[in-house]
Amino acid sequence: MKFNSWLECERGCGSRYSIYDIIYQCKECGGLLDVHHDLDALRKKSSKEWKNIFESRRATNQWPYGSGVWGKKEWVSPQIDDESVASFFEGWTNCFWAKRLGQEIELHDLWLKLSGNSHTGSFKDLGMTVLVSVVQQMIADGKKIKAIACASTGDTSAALSAYAAYAGIRAVILLPKNKVSNAQLIQPISNGAQVFSLNTDFDGCMKIVQELSKDPEIYLANSMNSLRMEGQKTVGIEIVQQFDWQVPDWIVLPAGNLGNVSALGKGLSMMKELGLIDKLPRIVCAQAEMANPFYLSYKNNFKSKQTMKAQNTLASAIQIGDPVSYERAVKVMKTFDGIVEQVSEEELKDASARADQTGLYTCPQTAVALGVLFRLRENNTIQRSDRVVVISTAHGLKFSKFKNDYHSESKDIFHRYANTPIEIEPDIELIKNSINSMT
Ligand SMILES: *Cc1c(COP(=O)(O)O)cnc(C)c1O
Repeated sequence: MKFNSWLECERGCGSRYSIYDIIYQCKECGGLLDVHHDLDALRKKSSKEWKNIFESRRATNQWPYGSGVWGKKEWVSPQIDDESVASFFEGWTNCFWAKRLGQEIELHDLWLKLSGNSHTGSFKDLGMTVLVSVVQQMIADGKKIKAIACASTGDTSAALSAYAAYAGIRAVILLPKNKVSNAQLIQPISNGAQVFSLNTDFDGCMKIVQELSKDPEIYLANSMNSLRMEGQKTVGIEIVQQFDWQVPDWIVLPAGNLGNVSALGKGLSMMKELGLIDKLPRIVCAQAEMANPFYLSYKNNFKSKQTMKAQNTLASAIQIGDPVSYERAVKVMKTFDGIVEQVSEEELKDASARADQTGLYTCPQTAVALGVLFRLRENNTIQRSDRVVVISTAHGLKFSKFKNDYHSESKDIFHRYANTPIEIEPDIELIKNSINSMT
Protein backbone atom coordinates (compact mmCIF):
# COMPACT_ATOMS: atom_id res chain seq x y z
CA MET A 1 0.00 0.00 0.00
CA LYS A 2 1.27 3.46 -0.87
CA PHE A 3 1.09 6.10 1.84
CA ASN A 4 1.97 9.71 1.30
CA SER A 5 2.46 13.02 3.09
CA TRP A 6 3.06 16.57 1.95
CA LEU A 7 3.34 20.13 3.24
CA GLU A 8 0.20 22.25 3.09
CA CYS A 9 -0.45 25.86 4.07
CA GLU A 10 -1.91 26.02 7.56
CA ARG A 11 -4.04 29.06 6.68
CA GLY A 12 -6.01 26.99 4.21
CA CYS A 13 -4.98 28.78 1.02
CA GLY A 14 -4.60 25.33 -0.52
CA SER A 15 -0.91 25.53 -1.52
CA ARG A 16 0.94 22.25 -1.33
CA TYR A 17 4.65 21.42 -1.34
CA SER A 18 6.75 18.27 -1.08
CA ILE A 19 8.24 17.41 2.31
CA TYR A 20 11.57 17.53 0.47
CA ASP A 21 11.07 21.14 -0.64
CA ILE A 22 13.31 23.52 1.25
CA ILE A 23 10.60 25.86 2.37
CA TYR A 24 9.33 26.96 5.77
CA GLN A 25 6.44 29.28 4.92
CA CYS A 26 3.80 29.32 2.21
CA LYS A 27 5.03 31.08 -0.96
CA GLU A 28 1.51 32.29 -1.70
CA CYS A 29 0.40 33.74 1.62
CA GLY A 30 3.26 33.44 4.12
CA GLY A 31 1.39 31.02 6.40
CA LEU A 32 3.16 28.25 8.26
CA LEU A 33 3.15 24.83 6.65
CA ASP A 34 1.73 21.65 8.15
CA VAL A 35 2.40 18.10 7.13
CA HIS A 36 -0.74 16.42 5.81
CA HIS A 37 -1.27 12.71 5.29
CA ASP A 38 -3.30 10.78 2.75
CA LEU A 39 -5.93 9.69 5.26
CA ASP A 40 -7.91 7.78 2.65
CA ALA A 41 -4.94 5.52 2.06
CA LEU A 42 -4.45 5.08 5.81
CA ARG A 43 -8.15 4.25 6.21
CA LYS A 44 -7.70 1.20 4.00
CA LYS A 45 -6.42 -0.50 7.13
CA SER A 46 -8.90 -0.85 9.96
CA SER A 47 -8.26 0.69 13.37
CA LYS A 48 -7.74 -2.84 14.68
CA GLU A 49 -5.07 -3.49 12.05
CA TRP A 50 -3.25 -0.28 12.97
CA LYS A 51 -3.32 -1.16 16.65
CA ASN A 52 -1.91 -4.60 15.89
CA ILE A 53 0.85 -3.14 13.72
CA PHE A 54 1.83 -0.59 16.38
CA GLU A 55 1.71 -3.25 19.12
CA SER A 56 3.85 -5.67 17.11
CA ARG A 57 6.62 -3.07 16.90
CA ARG A 58 6.76 -2.37 20.61
CA ALA A 59 10.18 -3.38 21.95
CA THR A 60 11.43 -4.70 18.64
CA ASN A 61 14.94 -4.03 17.40
CA GLN A 62 13.88 -4.23 13.79
CA TRP A 63 15.10 -1.10 12.02
CA PRO A 64 13.61 1.47 12.23
CA TYR A 65 10.46 0.30 14.00
CA GLY A 66 11.97 -0.02 17.47
CA SER A 67 11.73 3.76 17.76
CA GLY A 68 8.49 5.05 19.26
CA VAL A 69 8.38 7.51 16.36
CA TRP A 70 9.30 5.17 13.50
CA GLY A 71 7.14 2.38 14.89
CA LYS A 72 4.39 4.63 13.54
CA LYS A 73 6.23 5.44 10.35
CA GLU A 74 3.19 5.27 8.05
CA TRP A 75 1.58 8.02 10.12
CA VAL A 76 4.76 10.09 10.47
CA SER A 77 6.81 10.16 7.29
CA PRO A 78 5.83 7.19 5.14
CA GLN A 79 7.86 7.97 2.03
CA ILE A 80 11.30 7.94 3.67
CA ASP A 81 13.63 5.02 2.96
CA ASP A 82 14.44 3.02 6.08
CA GLU A 83 18.16 3.57 5.37
CA SER A 84 17.70 7.34 5.55
CA VAL A 85 16.28 7.25 9.06
CA ALA A 86 18.49 8.77 11.78
CA SER A 87 17.28 7.38 15.09
CA PHE A 88 18.40 6.55 18.60
CA PHE A 89 15.20 4.55 19.08
CA GLU A 90 13.65 7.52 20.83
CA GLY A 91 10.14 7.36 22.26
CA TRP A 92 8.60 4.56 24.27
CA THR A 93 9.37 6.53 27.39
CA ASN A 94 7.85 5.26 30.60
CA CYS A 95 4.47 6.47 31.74
CA PHE A 96 4.22 5.52 35.40
CA TRP A 97 1.73 5.72 38.22
CA ALA A 98 2.71 8.61 40.52
CA LYS A 99 1.10 6.96 43.48
CA ARG A 100 2.41 9.02 46.39
CA LEU A 101 2.21 12.36 44.66
CA GLY A 102 -1.35 11.47 43.69
CA GLN A 103 -2.19 10.61 47.28
CA GLU A 104 -0.94 14.00 48.41
CA ILE A 105 -3.33 15.85 46.14
CA GLU A 106 -6.18 13.32 46.36
CA LEU A 107 -5.84 12.21 42.80
CA HIS A 108 -5.55 8.45 42.75
CA ASP A 109 -5.15 8.07 38.99
CA LEU A 110 -2.16 10.35 38.38
CA TRP A 111 0.49 9.34 35.83
CA LEU A 112 3.73 10.85 34.61
CA LYS A 113 4.93 10.42 31.06
CA LEU A 114 8.69 10.92 31.21
CA SER A 115 9.23 12.09 27.66
CA GLY A 116 12.45 13.79 28.80
CA ASN A 117 14.01 10.39 29.52
CA SER A 118 15.40 10.43 26.05
CA HIS A 119 18.79 10.34 24.40
CA THR A 120 19.56 14.07 24.70
CA GLY A 121 17.34 14.56 27.75
CA SER A 122 14.24 16.17 26.30
CA PHE A 123 11.24 15.38 24.11
CA LYS A 124 12.87 17.41 21.33
CA ASP A 125 14.43 14.13 20.17
CA LEU A 126 11.01 12.97 18.95
CA GLY A 127 10.87 15.76 16.41
CA MET A 128 14.51 15.97 15.49
CA THR A 129 14.70 12.34 14.38
CA VAL A 130 12.15 13.15 11.67
CA LEU A 131 13.74 16.40 10.54
CA VAL A 132 17.24 14.95 10.27
CA SER A 133 15.94 11.82 8.54
CA VAL A 134 14.17 13.91 5.90
CA VAL A 135 17.38 15.85 5.28
CA GLN A 136 19.32 12.62 5.02
CA GLN A 137 16.82 11.45 2.40
CA MET A 138 17.24 14.72 0.48
CA ILE A 139 20.99 14.21 0.47
CA ALA A 140 20.57 10.59 -0.64
CA ASP A 141 18.38 11.87 -3.48
CA GLY A 142 21.15 14.18 -4.64
CA LYS A 143 20.28 17.53 -3.02
CA LYS A 144 23.28 19.46 -1.84
CA ILE A 145 22.94 20.41 1.83
CA LYS A 146 25.96 21.76 3.72
CA ALA A 147 24.49 21.94 7.19
CA ILE A 148 21.42 22.00 9.38
CA ALA A 149 21.22 25.12 11.53
CA CYS A 150 19.31 26.33 14.56
CA ALA A 151 19.35 29.06 17.15
CA SER A 152 18.52 27.64 20.54
CA THR A 153 19.79 27.97 24.03
CA GLY A 154 18.99 24.48 25.07
CA ASP A 155 17.17 21.35 24.16
CA THR A 156 16.71 21.96 20.43
CA SER A 157 20.42 22.50 19.84
CA ALA A 158 21.27 19.40 21.89
CA ALA A 159 18.86 17.28 19.87
CA LEU A 160 19.92 18.68 16.50
CA SER A 161 23.61 18.18 17.29
CA ALA A 162 23.14 14.56 18.28
CA TYR A 163 20.96 13.51 15.33
CA ALA A 164 23.07 15.41 12.81
CA ALA A 165 26.19 13.74 14.20
CA TYR A 166 24.47 10.37 13.90
CA ALA A 167 23.69 11.08 10.24
CA GLY A 168 27.11 12.60 9.53
CA ILE A 169 25.63 15.98 8.60
CA ARG A 170 27.12 19.20 9.94
CA ALA A 171 25.10 21.02 12.61
CA VAL A 172 25.42 24.79 12.99
CA ILE A 173 24.32 26.15 16.37
CA LEU A 174 23.96 29.85 17.15
CA LEU A 175 24.00 30.85 20.80
CA PRO A 176 23.99 34.20 22.59
CA LYS A 177 27.35 34.72 24.24
CA ASN A 178 27.41 34.63 28.04
CA LYS A 179 23.69 33.91 28.20
CA VAL A 180 23.81 30.13 28.20
CA SER A 181 24.96 27.79 30.90
CA ASN A 182 27.71 25.26 30.56
CA ALA A 183 25.13 22.50 30.55
CA GLN A 184 23.49 24.10 27.51
CA LEU A 185 26.76 24.49 25.65
CA ILE A 186 28.37 21.18 26.30
CA GLN A 187 25.99 18.86 24.46
CA PRO A 188 26.42 20.46 21.00
CA ILE A 189 30.14 20.87 21.61
CA SER A 190 30.50 17.20 22.50
CA ASN A 191 28.63 16.12 19.39
CA GLY A 192 31.00 18.10 17.19
CA ALA A 193 28.55 20.77 16.07
CA GLN A 194 29.88 24.07 14.81
CA VAL A 195 28.89 26.29 17.72
CA PHE A 196 28.86 30.06 17.27
CA SER A 197 28.83 32.19 20.37
CA LEU A 198 27.43 35.57 19.30
CA ASN A 199 27.52 38.90 21.00
CA THR A 200 23.73 39.32 20.93
CA ASP A 201 20.61 37.89 22.56
CA PHE A 202 18.47 34.94 21.51
CA ASP A 203 16.34 36.97 19.11
CA GLY A 204 19.52 38.27 17.49
CA CYS A 205 20.66 34.67 16.94
CA MET A 206 17.26 33.79 15.50
CA LYS A 207 17.45 36.63 12.96
CA ILE A 208 20.85 35.49 11.81
CA VAL A 209 19.86 31.85 11.44
CA GLN A 210 16.87 32.89 9.34
CA GLU A 211 19.17 34.92 7.11
CA LEU A 212 21.60 32.01 6.86
CA SER A 213 18.89 29.59 5.82
CA LYS A 214 18.02 31.72 2.79
CA ASP A 215 20.91 29.74 1.35
CA PRO A 216 19.13 26.54 0.27
CA GLU A 217 22.15 24.51 1.28
CA ILE A 218 21.62 25.47 4.93
CA TYR A 219 18.53 23.78 6.27
CA LEU A 220 16.63 25.42 9.14
CA ALA A 221 15.75 23.29 12.17
CA ASN A 222 13.90 25.85 14.30
CA SER A 223 10.29 25.30 15.22
CA MET A 224 8.91 26.97 12.11
CA ASN A 225 9.89 23.69 10.51
CA SER A 226 6.81 21.52 10.77
CA LEU A 227 8.52 18.18 10.16
CA ARG A 228 9.44 18.07 13.85
CA MET A 229 5.78 18.07 14.76
CA GLU A 230 5.29 14.74 12.98
CA GLY A 231 7.62 13.04 15.43
CA GLN A 232 6.36 14.94 18.46
CA LYS A 233 2.77 13.97 17.74
CA THR A 234 3.56 10.35 18.59
CA VAL A 235 3.69 11.20 22.30
CA GLY A 236 -0.11 11.35 22.57
CA ILE A 237 -0.58 8.20 20.53
CA GLU A 238 1.96 6.43 22.72
CA ILE A 239 0.22 7.51 25.93
CA VAL A 240 -3.09 6.08 24.73
CA GLN A 241 -1.36 2.89 23.61
CA GLN A 242 0.29 2.56 27.03
CA PHE A 243 -3.20 2.58 28.57
CA ASP A 244 -4.28 -0.25 26.25
CA TRP A 245 -5.93 2.28 23.93
CA GLN A 246 -7.91 3.98 26.70
CA VAL A 247 -7.98 7.78 26.55
CA PRO A 248 -7.14 9.59 29.83
CA ASP A 249 -9.38 12.42 31.03
CA TRP A 250 -6.64 15.03 31.08
CA ILE A 251 -3.17 15.60 29.65
CA VAL A 252 -1.16 18.42 31.26
CA LEU A 253 2.02 19.83 29.71
CA PRO A 254 4.26 22.92 29.88
CA ALA A 255 3.93 25.19 26.84
CA GLY A 256 6.26 27.81 25.32
CA ASN A 257 6.45 28.05 21.56
CA LEU A 258 3.31 25.86 21.46
CA GLY A 259 4.75 23.29 19.08
CA ASN A 260 4.42 20.45 21.53
CA VAL A 261 0.77 21.04 22.38
CA SER A 262 -0.03 21.41 18.69
CA ALA A 263 1.71 18.12 18.00
CA LEU A 264 -0.03 16.38 20.89
CA GLY A 265 -3.39 17.50 19.53
CA LYS A 266 -2.44 16.49 16.01
CA GLY A 267 -1.56 12.91 16.98
CA LEU A 268 -4.69 12.42 19.04
CA SER A 269 -6.93 13.92 16.36
CA MET A 270 -5.40 11.60 13.78
CA MET A 271 -6.20 8.63 16.02
CA LYS A 272 -9.79 9.75 16.29
CA GLU A 273 -10.13 10.34 12.55
CA LEU A 274 -8.79 6.88 11.84
CA GLY A 275 -11.07 5.30 14.40
CA LEU A 276 -8.50 4.14 16.99
CA ILE A 277 -10.22 6.16 19.72
CA ASP A 278 -13.70 7.62 20.01
CA LYS A 279 -13.14 10.42 22.51
CA LEU A 280 -10.50 13.04 23.23
CA PRO A 281 -8.84 14.01 26.50
CA ARG A 282 -8.95 17.58 27.76
CA ILE A 283 -5.61 19.34 27.42
CA VAL A 284 -4.07 21.74 29.93
CA CYS A 285 -1.27 24.08 28.86
CA ALA A 286 0.90 25.25 31.74
CA GLN A 287 2.78 28.55 31.59
CA ALA A 288 5.05 30.50 33.89
CA GLU A 289 3.65 33.91 34.94
CA MET A 290 6.85 35.53 33.71
CA ALA A 291 6.24 34.34 30.14
CA ASN A 292 2.51 33.86 29.79
CA PRO A 293 1.32 35.12 26.38
CA PHE A 294 -0.81 32.04 25.76
CA TYR A 295 -2.44 32.37 29.17
CA LEU A 296 -3.31 36.00 28.38
CA SER A 297 -4.71 35.00 24.99
CA TYR A 298 -6.80 32.29 26.65
CA LYS A 299 -8.12 34.80 29.16
CA ASN A 300 -9.47 36.94 26.33
CA ASN A 301 -11.02 33.86 24.71
CA PHE A 302 -8.40 33.81 21.96
CA LYS A 303 -9.95 36.95 20.46
CA SER A 304 -6.46 38.14 19.59
CA LYS A 305 -2.93 36.85 19.93
CA GLN A 306 -1.16 38.35 22.93
CA THR A 307 2.60 38.77 22.76
CA MET A 308 5.02 40.14 25.29
CA LYS A 309 8.66 40.44 26.18
CA ALA A 310 9.20 37.28 28.17
CA GLN A 311 10.69 37.93 31.62
CA ASN A 312 13.26 35.68 33.24
CA THR A 313 11.84 32.43 34.50
CA LEU A 314 13.55 29.36 35.90
CA ALA A 315 11.56 27.44 33.30
CA SER A 316 13.95 28.73 30.64
CA ALA A 317 12.75 26.39 27.89
CA ILE A 318 9.33 28.06 27.94
CA GLN A 319 10.57 31.64 28.31
CA ILE A 320 8.93 32.71 25.07
CA GLY A 321 6.86 35.84 24.48
CA ASP A 322 5.75 35.39 20.87
CA PRO A 323 4.92 31.72 20.26
CA VAL A 324 5.41 30.50 16.69
CA SER A 325 2.69 27.83 16.72
CA TYR A 326 0.01 30.06 18.24
CA GLU A 327 -2.65 29.51 15.57
CA ARG A 328 -2.22 25.76 15.58
CA ALA A 329 -2.39 25.65 19.36
CA VAL A 330 -5.60 27.71 19.49
CA LYS A 331 -7.28 25.17 17.21
CA VAL A 332 -6.13 22.38 19.51
CA MET A 333 -7.43 24.16 22.60
CA LYS A 334 -10.82 24.59 20.97
CA THR A 335 -11.03 20.96 19.84
CA PHE A 336 -9.83 19.53 23.16
CA ASP A 337 -11.82 21.80 25.47
CA GLY A 338 -8.46 23.06 26.68
CA ILE A 339 -7.42 25.14 29.65
CA VAL A 340 -4.40 27.42 30.07
CA GLU A 341 -3.23 28.06 33.62
CA GLN A 342 -0.12 29.71 35.03
CA VAL A 343 2.11 29.54 38.12
CA SER A 344 4.54 31.90 39.84
CA GLU A 345 8.25 31.23 40.24
CA GLU A 346 7.65 30.39 43.90
CA GLU A 347 4.98 27.87 42.99
CA LEU A 348 7.08 26.16 40.36
CA LYS A 349 10.06 25.83 42.68
CA ASP A 350 7.96 24.33 45.45
CA ALA A 351 6.05 22.08 43.05
CA SER A 352 9.31 20.67 41.78
CA ALA A 353 10.73 20.02 45.24
CA ARG A 354 7.47 18.57 46.50
CA ALA A 355 7.30 16.14 43.58
CA ASP A 356 10.96 15.21 44.02
CA GLN A 357 10.19 14.19 47.59
CA THR A 358 7.92 11.50 46.20
CA GLY A 359 10.78 10.15 44.10
CA LEU A 360 10.57 12.28 40.97
CA TYR A 361 13.36 14.51 39.68
CA THR A 362 11.54 17.20 37.78
CA CYS A 363 12.92 19.82 35.42
CA PRO A 364 11.58 23.38 35.91
CA GLN A 365 9.27 23.11 32.90
CA THR A 366 7.66 19.96 34.27
CA ALA A 367 7.42 21.79 37.59
CA VAL A 368 5.25 24.40 35.89
CA ALA A 369 2.93 21.62 34.73
CA LEU A 370 2.82 20.12 38.23
CA GLY A 371 2.19 23.50 39.85
CA VAL A 372 -0.73 23.99 37.47
CA LEU A 373 -2.01 20.52 38.29
CA PHE A 374 -1.93 21.35 42.01
CA ARG A 375 -3.94 24.50 41.34
CA LEU A 376 -6.52 22.69 39.24
CA ARG A 377 -6.91 20.05 41.97
CA GLU A 378 -7.32 22.70 44.64
CA ASN A 379 -10.17 24.38 42.78
CA ASN A 380 -11.51 20.97 41.76
CA THR A 381 -11.40 21.65 38.02
CA ILE A 382 -9.66 18.30 37.90
CA GLN A 383 -11.72 15.93 40.02
CA ARG A 384 -10.42 13.25 42.33
CA SER A 385 -11.52 10.30 40.21
CA ASP A 386 -10.10 11.69 36.94
CA ARG A 387 -7.26 9.99 35.14
CA VAL A 388 -4.52 12.58 34.56
CA VAL A 389 -1.28 12.27 32.62
CA VAL A 390 1.39 14.95 33.11
CA ILE A 391 3.98 15.13 30.36
CA SER A 392 7.46 15.68 31.73
CA THR A 393 9.43 17.38 28.97
CA ALA A 394 13.08 17.24 30.06
CA HIS A 395 15.29 15.21 32.33
CA GLY A 396 15.90 16.83 35.71
CA LEU A 397 19.61 16.01 35.47
CA LYS A 398 19.94 18.80 32.91
CA PHE A 399 18.93 21.25 35.60
CA SER A 400 21.23 20.53 38.53
CA LYS A 401 21.79 24.19 39.22
CA PHE A 402 18.06 24.74 39.67
CA LYS A 403 17.97 21.94 42.25
CA ASN A 404 21.14 23.09 43.94
CA ASP A 405 19.96 26.65 44.32
CA TYR A 406 16.69 25.50 45.85
CA HIS A 407 18.23 23.22 48.42
CA SER A 408 21.18 25.45 49.32
CA GLU A 409 20.65 27.47 52.44
CA SER A 410 19.77 31.04 51.79
CA LYS A 411 19.18 33.78 54.32
CA ASP A 412 16.93 35.78 52.05
CA ILE A 413 14.56 33.24 50.61
CA PHE A 414 12.73 30.56 52.52
CA HIS A 415 12.26 27.35 50.57
CA ARG A 416 9.52 25.19 51.93
CA TYR A 417 10.91 21.80 50.90
CA ALA A 418 14.63 22.61 51.09
CA ASN A 419 16.76 19.72 52.26
CA THR A 420 20.27 20.64 53.30
CA PRO A 421 23.06 18.27 54.29
CA ILE A 422 23.73 18.09 58.02
CA GLU A 423 27.26 19.04 58.93
CA ILE A 424 28.19 17.16 62.04
CA GLU A 425 31.19 15.60 63.80
CA PRO A 426 31.80 11.96 62.86
CA ASP A 427 30.38 10.90 66.20
CA ILE A 428 28.02 7.92 66.30
CA GLU A 429 25.91 9.22 69.18
CA LEU A 430 25.39 12.60 67.57
CA ILE A 431 24.36 10.97 64.33
CA LYS A 432 22.03 8.51 66.09
CA ASN A 433 20.39 11.38 67.95
CA SER A 434 19.94 13.26 64.76
CA ILE A 435 18.34 10.27 63.00
CA ASN A 436 16.04 9.65 65.96
CA SER A 437 15.01 13.29 66.14
CA MET A 438 13.51 13.06 62.65
CA THR A 439 9.91 12.06 62.95
C1 LIG B 1 10.91 23.00 24.05
C2 LIG B 1 10.53 22.67 25.43
C3 LIG B 1 9.27 22.99 25.97
C4 LIG B 1 8.25 23.79 25.22
O1 LIG B 1 7.72 23.19 24.09
P1 LIG B 1 7.02 24.12 23.00
O2 LIG B 1 6.81 23.24 21.85
O3 LIG B 1 7.98 25.25 22.73
O4 LIG B 1 5.75 24.63 23.62
C5 LIG B 1 8.96 22.58 27.24
N1 LIG B 1 9.86 21.91 28.00
C6 LIG B 1 11.08 21.60 27.52
C7 LIG B 1 12.02 20.88 28.42
C8 LIG B 1 11.46 21.96 26.23
O5 LIG B 1 12.68 21.66 25.78
